[in-house]
Amino acid sequence: MSERLKQTQAYLQAKIAPQAAELDRDPQRLAQAVKDLGNEHLLGLRVDPKWGGQGLNSLAFLQFQELVSRYSGALAFLQTQHQSAASMLAASQNEALKQQYLSEMVSGKLLMGVGFSQLRRQGVPVLKAVPSETGYQLYGEVPWITGFGCFQQFIVGATLPNGESLFGLMPFEAQTQVQGGRLCLSEPLQLAVMESTQTVEATVRDWYLPQTHVLSIQPARWIHEKDRRNVLQHSFFALGCAQAGLDIVAAAQANLPDFVERGLRSQLHTLDICRQAIYQAHLEPESSFEHRLALRAEAIDMAVRCAHMAVIVSRGAANYRDHPAQRVYREALAFTVFGQTTAVMEATLQKIV
Ligand SMILES: Cc1cc2nc3c(=O)[nH]c(=O)nc-3n(C[C@H](O)[C@H](O)[C@H](O)COP(=O)(O)OP(=O)(O)OC[C@H]3O[C@@H](n4cnc5c(N)ncnc54)[C@H](O)[C@@H]3O)c2cc1C
Repeated sequence: MSERLKQTQAYLQAKIAPQAAELDRDPQRLAQAVKDLGNEHLLGLRVDPKWGGQGLNSLAFLQFQELVSRYSGALAFLQTQHQSAASMLAASQNEALKQQYLSEMVSGKLLMGVGFSQLRRQGVPVLKAVPSETGYQLYGEVPWITGFGCFQQFIVGATLPNGESLFGLMPFEAQTQVQGGRLCLSEPLQLAVMESTQTVEATVRDWYLPQTHVLSIQPARWIHEKDRRNVLQHSFFALGCAQAGLDIVAAAQANLPDFVERGLRSQLHTLDICRQAIYQAHLEPESSFEHRLALRAEAIDMAVRCAHMAVIVSRGAANYRDHPAQRVYREALAFTVFGQTTAVMEATLQKIV
């Protein structure tokens, strides 16, 4: 582990782990924890130093993602929306938008979410963009945008008539434009897990997105190619979640029979093998999609099983609302479906049946 990652771990252990239960349920505490990451120079990790970012390579960034999810699933999920928005903006050709927002995003002064998972859906596009003279008109729904009340803006993904994907900036609050366009947001969704991340649905009616707010236009099937290329990406959250489950077992085992300690040792070993295989596959460009997909399913399976172990050794108390075993078990549920694709759904099921 690098020196920097060790420092990050020390920060997460001291400042985040003790409030993990509150972070799972209190949106204000969670929003503050994200801002605090900015003070620790832990936002904009993938952004080039010329914008104030850390310019981390993908390996170091994924190690960071694994570490955060070990100590708080809600924080891991909320901050990753902002980190990916910052990376998307950094990769944009829109220099004016970069000048305006990137440095503030890196420091955490401006926080930004994303809403483009609808591009994964099959059939009629969920959110359409129609070109106009000076920009685009947007119509449809955004089924998931996380970070309401914490993020000020979000990057939306919409489908153009030729199938290409348009990415642009929208305010993250209900608004009616002078031109008549409307952005309506639902109440934060009632969720079994990470409710504090304040996820909402948006309805977009005739929204005018000026050319100045466009980040990029990507080819049709962009998201499907990206999902294939990055199929391992969500595995790192699952690995952190699995470790969180085993941390709970480790803390409980001293007062329990020997078979718990033996089970823990065996599962730590299995998790280690899984983790090594995932990092190795990430570093080997020639590792096949099928191999990476199987490893993603393996990581999800590990998260669920390790969280279940935590529940088992915590006994009846695992049912208390704030018990860490129960929170980690719910986080395993979330990390099972985040970024899910048809292929991931199939591989995850195959692991079980
Ligand atoms: C709490 C929460 C917060 C989220 N926050 C965000 C956010 O801030 N930003 C964001 O962009 N996304 C967000 N997501 C989306 C997240 O990544 C999705 O979980 C993921 O994309 C799956 O989306 P879905 O549940 O809408 O399923 P769908 O997209 O409907 O389905 C998942 C996959 O299965 C495929 N599929 C569905 N039906 C069929 C079928 N009949 N045959 C074959 N394949 C099929 C789809 O094509 C898709 O690839 C959030 C999700 C959750 C649960």
